Amino acid sequence: MLGMRLSELQRIFTLNVAKLIQWAYDQGYELTFGESFNAAGTGHMKNSNHYIRLAQDLNLFKDNEYLTKSDSYKPLGSFWVSLHPLNRWGGDFKSKDGNHFSMLWEGRA
Ligand SMILES: [Zn+2]
Repeated sequence: MLGMRLSELQRIFTLNVAKLIQWAYDQGYELTFGESFNAAGTGHMKNSNHYIRLAQDLNLFKDNEYLTKSDSYKPLGSFWVSLHPLNRWGGDFKSKDGNHFSMLWEGRA
């Protein structure tokens, strides 16, 4: 993993987001997109991976209900971290950001 370029990780990240989405639907969930790449560089915490194309927020639905609790996203988080050793799930952060799926880059996720 060491020495991988940001561009390489960004391309792996995109494929893994697709896998996560497909997996979630296979489990009976539905999703809408939250924030992905943020070109403006504002609105997230400092050094957010949304500014470097390594973070995706997803809104989770089951049985037509929008699930907002961080813990509701745990099955997706577990699957997400299983896809790549650098994947991080926001529900594991102190901020309990359950809808945030990202990839570690220079100590940031
Ligand atoms: Zn996020």
